[in-house]
Amino acid sequence: MNRIISGATILHDLESLARFSVPTSKGGVTRLPWTYEDEQVVLLLTDTLTALGLQVSRDTANNLWAVWDVDADRSIVIGSHRDSVPNGGRFDGALGVIGAMRVIQQLKADQYRPRHNIELVAWNDEEGARFGTTLFGSRIYSGATQVTQFSDKIDRQGTSLAEAALQAGYSVEKMEATNHLSRMAAYLELHIEQGPILERNHCHIGVVSGINVQFRERFTMRGIRVHAAYSGADRADPIFATAEVWHNLMTTIHQANHGYPYPRIAATVGQVDVHSHLINAVPPDIIWTLDLRSDDASLAQEMLEMVHGNVERIAQRAGFNAEITSVDDHTVLAGTTDSSQPIAFDPVLQSIVSDAARDGGYSFQHMASWAGHDAMALAPRVPTAMIFVPSYKGLSHTPEEWTDPMDLERGVDVLLRSVIKADTLP
Ligand SMILES: [Zn+2]
Repeated sequence: MNRIISGATILHDLESLARFSVPTSKGGVTRLPWTYEDEQVVLLLTDTLTALGLQVSRDTANNLWAVWDVDADRSIVIGSHRDSVPNGGRFDGALGVIGAMRVIQQLKADQYRPRHNIELVAWNDEEGARFGTTLFGSRIYSGATQVTQFSDKIDRQGTSLAEAALQAGYSVEKMEATNHLSRMAAYLELHIEQGPILERNHCHIGVVSGINVQFRERFTMRGIRVHAAYSGADRADPIFATAEVWHNLMTTIHQANHGYPYPRIAATVGQVDVHSHLINAVPPDIIWTLDLRSDDASLAQEMLEMVHGNVERIAQRAGFNAEITSVDDHTVLAGTTDSSQPIAFDPVLQSIVSDAARDGGYSFQHMASWAGHDAMALAPRVPTAMIFVPSYKGLSHTPEEWTDPMDLERGVDVLLRSVIKADTLP
């Protein structure tokens, strides 16, 4: 019944949004929160959404909302985030916002009469790239996090979150959760997969079951700084000790994933700081982070305990201290307490998405998300689902991020069909 929104149109929209970026020589999108670029993109979206006849507003956390108000008690909310990482891609976040806009435009053009209000949201600061405030807008709005938990956040230029927000016209003291979550009959987010699975399976659509568990920790290994000439066997060398921990971890991860078509668990050491930085001295300490993700919480927990055991054993043997601190895990991001489970999406909405894909004649598969998304702050409170489309070579957070226009078209069509199906829900 509905005409299809062409992939070329969606790609063109994404290119237009990508122009709101700090210019970089590397060609990627840099749109950080509370910046001139972000404000410009909000103004563009506001104009476009207002022209569609929507009521556009911003909440206390600077999330952008556009409501097709049909005077219903409940709403179907569609959207994603509008920020990027530094030198990121054109599709991450933006696709969910553009897709939502085009879906509403198409429904209006088709003279569709919704039973629910249809709302678009463009979340502020999902990436946390400036202040380490991952899922900022959706966490504040949903009440997953109080803004006071972010009170010490400072960017690399020394600007505090409070100052940056104030410069954009927002006061952190006034940021609060909405008490209107019960109005949401459904939250649907279209997003690129950011991984290789759909492309490798030649599959059009991912029906996302939820967000994998994600444990994050920071390890500080403190040894004793000695000259490289110190030849004693009693060197308290935190670097070699860490190398041993990593080697054990790598081997165990490899074993856990061996024989499975897709990894069950992923481990990333993303930050490594070594102090002293001299060619002829054993550094006194090394600080490194570990990010463990899996759809199997007990496997991830087991792996984490193994790392702890290794760190303690090796540190004791080498005669130095090791400190372990927890960084935000999936429960902190989702505002839940049970770390033994992934963040699960709504089963009814998942079948709506798979039915929508089937109706469109697209291949689809059920899959967990390995990345965090705004949807995880909503999922414990509101019926939530996500739709994934393939990412070229699984690349994301890079200027090379790419999704074929045909895949954009299929993803937006599935979003549109899902909205119509969700509209039949109570
Ligand atoms: Zn994203």
